[in-house]
Amino acid sequence: MSDTWSSGGSRRRAGSLLDVAVVGGGMVGAAASLALARAGFSVALVDAREPAAWSATDEIDLRVVGLAPSSVALLDGLGVWDTIRAARASAYERMVVWDAENGATLRFDAADEARDVLGYIVENGLVQASLWQALDDAGVRRIVPAEVVGYAMREDRAQLDLADGQIVSARLVVAADGAESPLREMVGIGTHGRDYAQRGVVAHVATARPHERTAWQRFLPTGPLAFLPLDDGRCSIVWSLPDVEAKRVMALDDGAFRDALGVASDFRLGPILSVSRRAAFPLRLKLADRYEVGRLVLLGDAAHAVHPLAGQGVNLGLRDVAELRDTLVDARDAGRDIAATHVLRRYARRRRSADGLDAWSFDALARVYAWKASPLVTARGVGVRVLDALGPLKRRLARHAAGL
Ligand SMILES: Cc1cc2nc3c(=O)[nH]c(=O)nc-3n(C[C@H](O)[C@H](O)[C@H](O)COP(=O)(O)OP(=O)(O)OC[C@H]3O[C@@H](n4cnc5c(N)ncnc54)[C@H](O)[C@@H]3O)c2cc1C
Repeated sequence: MSDTWSSGGSRRRAGSLLDVAVVGGGMVGAAASLALARAGFSVALVDAREPAAWSATDEIDLRVVGLAPSSVALLDGLGVWDTIRAARASAYERMVVWDAENGATLRFDAADEARDVLGYIVENGLVQASLWQALDDAGVRRIVPAEVVGYAMREDRAQLDLADGQIVSARLVVAADGAESPLREMVGIGTHGRDYAQRGVVAHVATARPHERTAWQRFLPTGPLAFLPLDDGRCSIVWSLPDVEAKRVMALDDGAFRDALGVASDFRLGPILSVSRRAAFPLRLKLADRYEVGRLVLLGDAAHAVHPLAGQGVNLGLRDVAELRDTLVDARDAGRDIAATHVLRRYARRRRSADGLDAWSFDALARVYAWKASPLVTARGVGVRVLDALGPLKRRLARHAAGL
């Protein structure tokens, strides 16, 4: 059997047959490379570019994520969490979510779960750089910078054609090349979902009142506004707005932006005292129609890009990593081909149903909070108040978000 999706001219083989070639070294692809190498597989990581160097003396990067306990546990198991924690990770102990229309509030507290923290706010660049630093020791071969221009599947291997003429051969190819995943396109896996026609405006802001190590999120009909606590006392904001509104607030001068943000947050943390530079990211729900084809699997945003309102994007990706590693280890220990169809389908089935359920739940939340009609707003308020009062159900939600 041989399936070729694209081919180049004269090509040269780069090294011997690997167990796994990972394409994309973002947080998810780098974690997958390290996890699989530590599990004893021979691994190469292919990326278009080296990640930017991270330095503690640099300003806190605008791209931050909230890491759930399941992600911290994975990074800890890979031996990089202590480095990340010591460098710059901001713990949060509580989460307060409230409705701008009816005031209904949902509160989560780590103490209710007998935990110290609910999670950590960490720069993407720091997590990525820490993972990359550990690659050499784990024996991961880096192929960087490299652009994948073709993928072919043979009976016993998959083959990546790189733009410089090299060929990388592996039993399994892992596509972790982000939401636009060129490799997913190349192998013809479609996607479905929804363009929210929204942007997430991000910045770091100083507020008059302390954040109290609490992640605050106000749901407005235009989209959620989150204040994520940073250790330097500021908050990292993610302000989801319709495209036109996002464009408008991005164009405001700092003073007008601070005023608009203060109003949008209902001054929960008081007036906004200062704001860093800003950036805006398009928001969409994009789910791959399948997670495996031939000798290739999808991981991270290549498989699922979700609305940031639950702060779960990379956490889902890191859960994919743990599942893939466990699946491949089981297959190897049972003497099976790690890229056999039934092996990859086991990974795909488990992660696709879990990711899909979460992704559509976040989508449903975004829709429910966009309701403006008064009976619906009242019903939403009743629902949230009941949920907040129901300890066991709320605890289940918290444990699910934590990946426990
Ligand atoms: C505003 C906003 C806020 C967010 N907040 C949170 C949060 O609080 N919590 C959370 O969990 N998630 C959050 N997310 C989502 C999170 O940032 C993503 O889920 C995560 O970064 C995805 O990681 P990844 O490694 O899958 O993909 P990426 O980070 O996109 O990495 C893809 C990698 O592939 C490489 N690549 C691309 N094309 C090629 C190619 N052709 N050849 C070789 N290499 C290639 C790129 O160079 C890159 O290194 C947020 C997202 C947004 C937009």
